[in-house]
Amino acid sequence: MPGDMAFMEKLTSLCKRRGFIYQSSEIYGGIGGFWDYGPLGVELKRNIKEAWWHDMVTNPPIGPDGREVEMVGLDCAIIMNPRVWEASGHVAGFSDLMSSCRACKKLVRADQLGAMLEESEWYQSVAELCRRGPVGVAELRRWAETRGRKLAPNLGIVREPGLIPARLEGTTGSRQVHSVRELLEVLTGELDSKPGAGLPCPYCGGELTEPRPFNLMFRTTVGAVEDPANTAYLRPETAQGIFVNFKNVLDTTRVKVPFGIAQIGKAFRNEINPRNYTFRSREFEQMEIEFFCRPEQSMAWYEFWRKVRYEWYVGLGLKSEKLRLRDQTPQELAHYSRACADIEYLFPFSDEFQELEGVAHRGNFDLTQHAKASSKDLTYFDDEAWERDKDKFPPEQHKEVKNREPYRFLPTVIEPSAGVDRSALAFLCEAYCEDQAPDENGVMQPRVVLKLHPRLAPIKVAVFPLVKREGMPEVAEAIYRDVRRYLPAFYDEKGAIGRRYRRQDEAGTPYCVTVDGQTLVDGTVTIRDRDTLQQIRIDKAHVLSWLGEKLGK
Ligand code: ATP
Repeated sequence: MPGDMAFMEKLTSLCKRRGFIYQSSEIYGGIGGFWDYGPLGVELKRNIKEAWWHDMVTNPPIGPDGREVEMVGLDCAIIMNPRVWEASGHVAGFSDLMSSCRACKKLVRADQLGAMLEESEWYQSVAELCRRGPVGVAELRRWAETRGRKLAPNLGIVREPGLIPARLEGTTGSRQVHSVRELLEVLTGELDSKPGAGLPCPYCGGELTEPRPFNLMFRTTVGAVEDPANTAYLRPETAQGIFVNFKNVLDTTRVKVPFGIAQIGKAFRNEINPRNYTFRSREFEQMEIEFFCRPEQSMAWYEFWRKVRYEWYVGLGLKSEKLRLRDQTPQELAHYSRACADIEYLFPFSDEFQELEGVAHRGNFDLTQHAKASSKDLTYFDDEAWERDKDKFPPEQHKEVKNREPYRFLPTVIEPSAGVDRSALAFLCEAYCEDQAPDENGVMQPRVVLKLHPRLAPIKVAVFPLVKREGMPEVAEAIYRDVRRYLPAFYDEKGAIGRRYRRQDEAGTPYCVTVDGQTLVDGTVTIRDRDTLQQIRIDKAHVLSWLGEKLGK
């Protein structure tokens, strides 16, 4: 069901107006599923990635074993040996079931068909008839010959309105439909056809084919020769780069199980119906951790990551009931997975929760696959456990015992896999607020404000002279130059002060420092809080330390 599309329109318009997000290649008409981040958007994304890297890699939490989690980073190539994707199962199985429209040829993901249909213009138009009361032959015919012809030219009852009476009787046993559900039955399938032959095309009303799998990986050719042997793929996830480097990391660092490898990077999926703004894009960024642990400790680590990752979003401002942690049902789990939880957000574009991040218990599926396909030994040897226990075994058994469990084993993997772009969108949706603020004459005016968490705010502080004279700009510029050495800051002296505040509210800037007449007398400035609108006065020499304290620097 469509959610609050008016809200989405306001948010996308703000994101464009203030330089958060642009359509990719906009001057050429754009390209579906690709987005560019403008000057503020790039800072927001960097802040999300830096917060994640800081909180997961450089300053990780304390684990269930009471010790600080061991985590190292990685940055792999986007294009890898195509055998990686054969081993991981992506070449054979990374596909969605797709239907194509026999009339307009557009592709639709089978699992999204219902929602797309409900959002489509033609369906909403015909469903509107039903909301007003029972719909009879004449009314349906009128719709088919007017709006229907324009919006859904390939719909059965539009192509052949003469068959509407038979169609109605065949479905409802009367000459009227009473509900949208009945109406859908009337519209479904061909006029002469098997009832329930599938839903019609959301674009034109035409008949859809049976769903077939469609591989989502983008292909490219490596080298000069266009030969299938040179086919490679743009990675559809960052995770596999971690698995194939597992041995490298073990051999070149001092990490010991349990430990994690983290990576942030671009991923590409040829999504069939990129939609809902940046939510489902064809190029996006992921933040993924593969956490390697002993099998018998894996459920404790799974529970740990599930909680840590959920709380990470709450700590950065997704505080409302729109964020939830949902455990997947046994039917939803992949065959190798013991448990999986989705961190979901109720985006305004839908009335269903949508995935922000998945935390999956993956068993040792990935390492097993890569060990088989590469013929490399990817087992882990726990030398500490062996040193501790070896005297329990007679020396002639050492060679055999040390090379089996629990001393040598394939670690179990817990995978928290998040999307940067989906997180950015959720943070923007949650932060967007409309309230009232006084203008320069003290009259309350509506304002739009992004109440972003200060860690995520692209600009932390803006510095203004109240007016562009009497030496105020010089004082303000000196403060700005001082502050910007440590914090992303912005200087603005143009236009009315109220307008300048408003611009910063829309950019999500938590604090504005203003130099006014009193500054010239006693050296104090005002600091305005974006959310409470309260202003305090402090000595201009203390601005930096005050901000540092507030922003936790
Ligand atoms: P969905 O079911 O929504 O397609 P998924 O389950 O295929 O998502 P994963 O393969 O688990 O997603 O990818 C991990 C994370 O990567 C997702 O939680 C999401 O944040 C992000 N992600 C996946 N696909 C996209 C996309 N097309 N656009 C933006 N982010 C994406």
